[in-house]
Amino acid sequence: MSEKTSIEWTDATWNPVRGCAKVSPGCKHCYAETFAERFRGVPGSPYEQGFDLRLVPGLIDLPRQWKRGRRIFVNSMSDLFQDGVPEEYIARVVEVMRETPHHQYQLLTKRSARMADVLGKSGVPDNVWCGVSVETASYVERATDLAQLPARLRFLSIEPLLGPIPDLPLTGIGWVIVGGESGHGARPMDPSWVRAIRDRCLVAGVPFFFKQWGGVNKKKSGRVLDGRTWDEMPGAVGALGTATVSDAAGIGSSSGKVRLRIIVDMQF
Ligand code: SF4
Repeated sequence: MSEKTSIEWTDATWNPVRGCAKVSPGCKHCYAETFAERFRGVPGSPYEQGFDLRLVPGLIDLPRQWKRGRRIFVNSMSDLFQDGVPEEYIARVVEVMRETPHHQYQLLTKRSARMADVLGKSGVPDNVWCGVSVETASYVERATDLAQLPARLRFLSIEPLLGPIPDLPLTGIGWVIVGGESGHGARPMDPSWVRAIRDRCLVAGVPFFFKQWGGVNKKKSGRVLDGRTWDEMPGAVGALGTATVSDAAGIGSSSGKVRLRIIVDMQF
């Protein structure tokens, strides 16, 4: 976990679960696996067991200690809804999110059916954004699973985009992130695939965030699409507050790289 993160669209990460198993082509160059495996066998490292699945109950209550509101990416190093994570454990994670309404949580999975099942039973707290990853047209059913959830905000992370997705379903979707794969062996992303998704978002009025072109040198390839950057964020999903005073004081606690726009909704 970390109070700082290089992920452009969040403020902090929280990993009450570590490790994962690959489920689809988007996992091929999983950054979390690469990172974790570097530390396999290193005594005392959080990743001493590499990328093997592990529950980390000692971190479950961490967000309660963060008094100023943050956008928190849940399980940046894992997938909360993989089969090896007991439902009771997921329920404890959801409870912490429910009881810390000064934060906004970003919950992202490739196990969309289990997320829909588990959160369908527990309910989704208003401060939880539910998202699924979709990398090719073969996985759009994850978006369909997501649409079943009674979440205040549902989003799609289309990263790495590995093929055209001409029929991307946007019904009930409040935010779309697109990005290309980066690093050694990165698979190419055709600009026409990105434009097609951007244009569907424009027509549907869905905020569109273009993260990067990717490639071996992602800094060089940058993140400009058709002459501009696309940094749209969902509006009216809630303010970040503090643990004791619920107002807009915590807005803008970003670690800095991209100043994100959040529209204040004083219901929080
Ligand atoms: S689901 Fe996510 S965390 Fe798990 S292997 Fe795939 S990319 Fe990595």
